[in-house]
Amino acid sequence: MPAETPHPVTRNQATILAALLHEIRPRWSTEAIVSLIGKNLATIPSYPALCEAAIRVANDPTKNTPAIIFLDGKHWERPDQPREAPPSGPKCEDHATEPAHTCHCCKADILVGDRPPTHQGKHWTPGGTP
Ligand SMILES: [Zn+2]
Repeated sequence: MPAETPHPVTRNQATILAALLHEIRPRWSTEAIVSLIGKNLATIPSYPALCEAAIRVANDPTKNTPAIIFLDGKHWERPDQPREAPPSGPKCEDHATEPAHTCHCCKADILVGDRPPTHQGKHWTPGGTP
């Protein structure tokens, strides 16, 4: 069995995507799209990412050419990917909108010396003693 192709997109995958894009945008020829995919293989992170980005561009009537797919832009952003979990735990005693253990206000105070490091997320009166 031959070694797997190093490219993220096979000829077959390119043809399938090109046919789909052609259905959405009849003026985009499948040959042109396959050729574009071939020329831009080095910039394609993965086939699923390419499909998402390409369909997003095809569905945007302000995008006139499939070449836009291969430019940087919002169409490459994948908002459905997992995000960082929201901060949890008790709130900071001095900054109610921040979680105590990661409170940025406290961290800033500690950095400039207005708050002892022992009082991250805890009530502290400036000028007091720990
Ligand atoms: Zn705080």
